[in-house]
Amino acid sequence: MTAGAESLTPAPLTPASMRRSRDVPALVERARDGDPRAVARLVTLVEDADPLLPEVARALARHAGQAHVLGLTGSPGVGKSTLTNELVRVYRASGLRVGVLAVDPSSPFTGGAILGDRVRMQDHATDAGVYIRSMSSRGHLGGLSAATPQAVRVLEGAGCDIVIIETVGVGQAEVEVASLADTTLVLLAPGMGDAIQAVKAGILEVADVFVVNKADRDGADATVRDIQGMLGLGERGPGQWRPQVVRAVAARGEGVDDVVAAIAKHRAWLSEHGQLQVRREHRAGVEVEQIALGTLRARIGSLRHGTALPALAARVAAGELDPYAAAADLLAGLAQP
Ligand code: GDP
Repeated sequence: MTAGAESLTPAPLTPASMRRSRDVPALVERARDGDPRAVARLVTLVEDADPLLPEVARALARHAGQAHVLGLTGSPGVGKSTLTNELVRVYRASGLRVGVLAVDPSSPFTGGAILGDRVRMQDHATDAGVYIRSMSSRGHLGGLSAATPQAVRVLEGAGCDIVIIETVGVGQAEVEVASLADTTLVLLAPGMGDAIQAVKAGILEVADVFVVNKADRDGADATVRDIQGMLGLGERGPGQWRPQVVRAVAARGEGVDDVVAAIAKHRAWLSEHGQLQVRREHRAGVEVEQIALGTLRARIGSLRHGTALPALAARVAAGELDPYAAAADLLAGLAQP
């Protein structure tokens, strides 16, 4: 065989070469076969905002929309990873494939660290039907709201029926990520003041299911009442979803079936009311917007090293041009190929 012919045959991907592979079709094919190393490599490409991402997205596009995407958020210590572990167990028992993405919007540099604590998740470490990964937004200009939907696409492409996006906290960033899900769960625990915080962060508006976890502790009834009270205050039209409030003791696996039932009920409601489509179009809109903004930012950033922006800046500084006119000039320049 000549050297030329040899180079046309892609080398088979070994576990070691897969970690560095840039062969997108091969990676996607492997991921579709459920190879966790190929899935890991694709998620890393997403995290790093690798230049290969457009190609990855193109290869995955036709597999979109196949998973039920769950967002799960709540303060640290409320029981998110315990509940996630239980949800994975229940879904696995019914033969579904599950992907879990643990994201921490408030600290973009802790990727990988979160998973270090997830000892309980290791219940599923040897199960090929479960893919668990923590994620940071290292390379992403648009942050996790840009990166997360791409990682969801990877997991959908890998055949996951359920994708759980777990975010830490109940702040604005979490709301943003949570709102990318089909069904958003908010975890609360008695006596943590979470209900008040959730209201402040606007999480009440995005929650589809409230789980009052640690219902074995005092104050669970009061927390349920608080939430129901606050939900009662909100305006809700006749065609609107009424968020469910479910009690659980995740540490003992209690109430988990009720949580799963509430999720299924919400999923059915979304379909019946045409809302699944609405949510997914919203998610796609956010995705496109974030990608476009990221591209624009990068292009404007690169102009700093050219001549156009410094020239405009000099004219603005000298009072020859106002900054709005200069910005319009800059954007008009970008529109040209
Ligand atoms: P996360 O930080 O939200 O992911 O919370 P974890 O799942 O790590 O749980 C924090 C702690 O709460 C752990 O020690 C769990 O064992 C404990 N925990 C979880 N669920 C329950 C529950 O229903 N009742 C009680 N009493 N403890 C729980």
